[in-house]
This record gives sequence, C-alpha cells and structure tokens, in this order.
Amino acid sequence: MSAVTTIVTGTHQVPSTMRAARMHDYNQPLVLEEVPTPGIGPGEVLVRVQAAGMCRTDVQLVDGYFRKYAPFSLPLIPGHEIAGEIVQVGSAVETGGHREGDQVVVVGGWGDGTCRQCHRGDTQICAHGAWPGFGPYGGYAEYVPVPATYVIKVNAQAGLTPEQLAPLTDAGLTPYRGIKKLRDAGALGPGRVVGVMGVGALGTYAVQYAKLLGGGATVVAFARNADKLDVARRLGADHAINISGRSLDDVRAELRQATGQDEIDAGIDCAGATEMIRLGFGLLGIAGHYVSVGLVGDRIDIPLFPLVSKEYTYHGSFWGNYNDLSEVVTLAEQGKVRHTVHAIPFEDVNDAIDRIRTGEIVGRAVITY
Ligand SMILES: [Zn+2]
Repeated sequence: MSAVTTIVTGTHQVPSTMRAARMHDYNQPLVLEEVPTPGIGPGEVLVRVQAAGMCRTDVQLVDGYFRKYAPFSLPLIPGHEIAGEIVQVGSAVETGGHREGDQVVVVGGWGDGTCRQCHRGDTQICAHGAWPGFGPYGGYAEYVPVPATYVIKVNAQAGLTPEQLAPLTDAGLTPYRGIKKLRDAGALGPGRVVGVMGVGALGTYAVQYAKLLGGGATVVAFARNADKLDVARRLGADHAINISGRSLDDVRAELRQATGQDEIDAGIDCAGATEMIRLGFGLLGIAGHYVSVGLVGDRIDIPLFPLVSKEYTYHGSFWGNYNDLSEVVTLAEQGKVRHTVHAIPFEDVNDAIDRIRTGEIVGRAVITY
C-alpha cells in the first residue's frame, strides 16, 4: 500500500500533511499531530475522510486486547469505519468506475485475493488480510489510501450524511452479517423469538435487522441500561427487558409475560461479555442458534451438556464482506435504517475514547473533521 506512484487526476488540492490521531504506545492517549499525507498506488484511491466511527474495538486496540493475536507495528492510525470522498484515483483504476468527488464508504476487510475465503467474497476472514485502522493509515486522520476494490459508492441523492454512513461499515455491518447467518440457518420467521443481547452501537442496528430480515420473528432486546432499552424500543424491538441485577429465572419470567414463551429461538450477542453469553445460552431453546458478533469479553463459559443435548448451533460472525456492506448501504439509501450517532470533533478523540470505555455513549460516536 501507498507506493510512491501517485497519479493526481483532479482538482482537489491534497495538502502535503494531514491531521492524524496516532497510537504511539499501548494504554496511552492518542497523539494528535501533523503527519505526511499518504500517497496512493496505481490500484488505490485516496479518500478524504469526512467521518470516522469510533468503535469499541479501537478502545480495545489501545488497551492491548489484540496484542496476543496480532502484533501491530506502531505508531498506527486507528479508525476502520470510514466515509468520505474520493480525491485521487490511481492510474490503474481509472476505468473502474471510481471518480473524484464520489461519496464512498470503505469496506474494512482487505483480503490477499488468492485464497478460498477471498474467492468466496469473504475477504474479511482472509488469513493474510489487512484492515484500515490497524496499521499506518486509518480513519482517525484526514486522508486514507484504500484499494479501489474496497470502496462502495453511495448515492448522493439519498441524503445520507458522512456521520450516518461511517458506522454502517462496522457497527451497522457486523450485526447484519450475523442476522443473515441466523436467517440462512432457518432460525428466524413467524413464531420465533430472537434475542438481541446488548444494545451498544451494534445492538441498535441488530434490532432493526432482526425486524427487516426476521420474516415476522418477535424481537426482544436485552440490556442493563434503561436508556439503551428505550432506544431499542424506538428502533422497533417488540420488547425490551432490563437484565440488570436479575436472575435467569426473573428474565425468563418477564420473557414469558412479553412473548408467551420463556426461551429464545435465536440470539445475536452484540456485547460479548461473559455473563451476557451465559444469559443468552441460558435462555436458548431446543435447536436454538446463537451468533456472537460482540467482543467485549475474551472467554465464553457455557455449560456443555445443553449445547449437545439441545443441539445448539453457535456461530462466529466477523465484520462483513463487500456484498454485505452493499446491501446495508442499499437499505440505508432506501431510508430503512435509522442511525444513532453523535458527532465528535477531532480534537476530542481521547475524551471520547474514555467515554466509550465506560460504555456511557448511547449509539455510535463519529469523528468529524
Ligand atoms: Zn485471501
């Protein structure tokens, strides 16, 4: 990425330096500084970042969560939820339909293009993949180089703002893929109850996709924060159950009162906390399906016998591929997705990281420039 072969084809004046919030070390605030603006290779486009979603993953990155899985070289620029405008097009992609001035979102998982996963379209699970925001360039800076195959043009007539678009590339994408897995497994449909476990940013979208793709399933949101449960109801959850300080039996009783059954047929775990997964499996009915998309915790602890004897299916689901994001963007262009976003001025990025760590932000914080 970012070879020296930069082809400037248009009129946007790209400055030689840009503002960036860079991670120089673990467990330290990001450093807001001027760094050289990256060039692009012939197969890349340069995106002027108009909005960058702040993911809990970014906080985990700073806190060292991924250290044992992936040794990232520092300094790096976080930010993998990117919406912006193409300002330069590499020489090899001029025929690819990308134009300067195009409003785009960035697909986050960049595959090597050679393996089975890539050829299936699942570049986000390529063993030799790369991701913006986990290397030298990411959305916490004014410009980012992107392989041309990983930008999706957005219909400017749809009236979506960059702040709405950026989170669609992860918070609004990851639960979409998860819900599709439940749907494709036959776990949704009329008479089924699907649980959305946790109503952080991912959960606000999961509730909507459970309705959109659920084929008539009853959607129940579970969370421990009353504000987040209100948001879930506003976004279409049929029921919202506060689990704070309550036993499994208490939660079951309220679920029965709400839906007529004290089990869920399917669940999407948008939190990933150990106790939430335990609750989700505790509620899961016979032949139930459970998909994990949240990563707050680091271990699961579920009893084995019910998993076997009730024939549970447990799905991992990671981010989303190009086609998943295309579908999400289409739904958003059609006005079928509601957004819960808060603009964060670039200068306040470290303060926002602290607030995401404590979980006090409802919906998605989005950096604007
Ligand atoms: Zn691959």
